[in-house]
Amino acid sequence: MAGDALATDVLIVGGGGAALCAALHLTERAPALDVTIAVKGMLAKSGCTRMVQGGYNAVLNPADSFERHFADTITGGAFLNEQELAWILVTRAPAMIHELESRYGCFFDRAPDGSIHQKPFGGQSFDRTVHRGDLTGIEIMERLRDAVLGRRVRVLEEHRAVGLLRDHSGARVCGSVLLDMRRGRFLVVEARATLLATGGGPTMYAVSSPSREKSTDGIAMAYAAGAEVMDMEMVQFHPTGLVVEGSELHGAVLEEGLRGAGGRLYNALGERFMERYDPARMERATRDVVSRACYLEAREGRGSPLGGVWLDLSHLDQDEIAQTFPGMVERTRAAGYDLARGRVEISPTAHFLMGGVRIDERCRTTLDGLYAAGEDASGVQGANRLGGNGVAESLVFGALAGDVIAEEVAARPHVSHDEREADQHVAQASAPLRRERGADAYDLLDELRRLMWDKVGVVRDGRLLDEAIAELTELTARAEAIGVNDCREANVEWAAALNLGCLLATSTLIARAAAFRTESRGAHYRADFPVQDDRQWLVHVVLRSSGDGPRLAARPVRLTRLNPADALAEAER
Ligand SMILES: Cc1cc2nc3c(=O)[nH]c(=O)nc-3n(C[C@H](O)[C@H](O)[C@H](O)COP(=O)(O)OP(=O)(O)OC[C@H]3O[C@@H](n4cnc5c(N)ncnc54)[C@H](O)[C@@H]3O)c2cc1C
Repeated sequence: MAGDALATDVLIVGGGGAALCAALHLTERAPALDVTIAVKGMLAKSGCTRMVQGGYNAVLNPADSFERHFADTITGGAFLNEQELAWILVTRAPAMIHELESRYGCFFDRAPDGSIHQKPFGGQSFDRTVHRGDLTGIEIMERLRDAVLGRRVRVLEEHRAVGLLRDHSGARVCGSVLLDMRRGRFLVVEARATLLATGGGPTMYAVSSPSREKSTDGIAMAYAAGAEVMDMEMVQFHPTGLVVEGSELHGAVLEEGLRGAGGRLYNALGERFMERYDPARMERATRDVVSRACYLEAREGRGSPLGGVWLDLSHLDQDEIAQTFPGMVERTRAAGYDLARGRVEISPTAHFLMGGVRIDERCRTTLDGLYAAGEDASGVQGANRLGGNGVAESLVFGALAGDVIAEEVAARPHVSHDEREADQHVAQASAPLRRERGADAYDLLDELRRLMWDKVGVVRDGRLLDEAIAELTELTARAEAIGVNDCREANVEWAAALNLGCLLATSTLIARAAAFRTESRGAHYRADFPVQDDRQWLVHVVLRSSGDGPRLAARPVRLTRLNPADALAEAER
């Protein structure tokens, strides 16, 4: 046998917002089920939901509407969203806010009349972002964690999933092989249903903002097991990442509300350059537009000394900045800036994957027995995510997955896994321990990050993408020679090698999909195809594993509620 064994009814992989909401809804609906959470970091202390700053979008004000939030999400997503998924997001987001407050004890900031305060965010036609100061995620995750710890849920911290298990037919997913990273031991978990909630995380870029332990593991594992993934070319770059070379703060996000509150962007010539790119919305334009503008200013020689541009709030009321954005003031102070009084050097930073595992309206993937929610899943955000829609997606779809699994698992008997597959996962994950010291995992990670930043980044073109694909193949071959020190317990070098394996797999999917889509849409900008082409490209790029690398196919977007022509007519009315 490949390692220790455990049988559970439901295995949740991940310990962020989607995972915790799934666990709460599962145990509420079906208290008799045996539920296991396996998390690479610590429960609720790892992942990006905890890092959420700005807040959560929900329609709470009678002057706002589901239709408006939906239209903002779809136009922000450049019509690449699966519209039924986006509709689920906007219609369920308000109930989740009430659930967070009334069931789990979260408390969000209030307006003077006692109602929940909602602030402006980029790309939105209404102020609908619910928040707790500028560190909203900590409030949400602490309360969700307390609630989960009060339920009958087995929590395996510092256990990373290294591969999915299938039954002997190969058609049904029935659990996962975990690595207990503290002890260096493997645990084979058989489950009647498995939920992926590992939170995506584009940490394959030289400048990135997600929590450092994330490495797109869920997407890599699902793809390797044969699930369809889609929209991988859609990588969001947040425009305002801190530039602090040589520091862990490099790439850390300064929240969107700073632009919403009136923050201005300047280049080295002192020009408020957004006038060139989006004169109507200026700094409040969507993230893709602002990121590209910042990137191009720097590339064309009008950037700051370290290759970024400047964010300036000094024209705003200083006390109000300090009061409204205490977390951001503290973060910039740690990097040597005074946010309220002076300008701060910023750069686009890889922030979020709109693409991921393909799901239906019940969070089911294309593999029987496997579900996905949160940033591991695709379809909700289209080609570009609006600020405030990410945490809403995680919590809404995590809860939905919990409800669905509670309902569906009753009809699913336990099946036994294919032991050869479990052995293969263990052998593959252990391989770097057995090798002589060859290639260095950290060096290859650095190479990967530089390569993705330079050739598959904010602005792409066919020649660079082809180069990147060839270099990724070569890097993947070199990664086969990585050897790490052979101590099994708490081996961070081993962890880096495993992270690299997942990142190489998903980077290849990103580069392949980006080369395939010969147009520009949302976060995907091709300098050689700068125009959005709705006639040919209102399609998802779907990737599936085949013997010789990914097989790519175009699948039409289902425009079930809004189409681009109607949206244009509405905007002109
Ligand atoms: C700095 C920052 C600020 C943000 N601010 C906002 C905001 O203001 N509003 C908004 O809407 N969105 C925001 N986002 C995006 C938002 O945080 C994410 O969209 C969302 O939280 C993702 O939730 P999740 O549950 O899918 O994953 P996460 O919360 O990231 O959780 C992933 C979990 O999976 C675990 N994991 C990873 N790999 C494995 C593995 N192999 N095995 C087991 N466990 C694994 C991780 O340890 C972690 O516990 C922000 C993101 C960042 C990085």
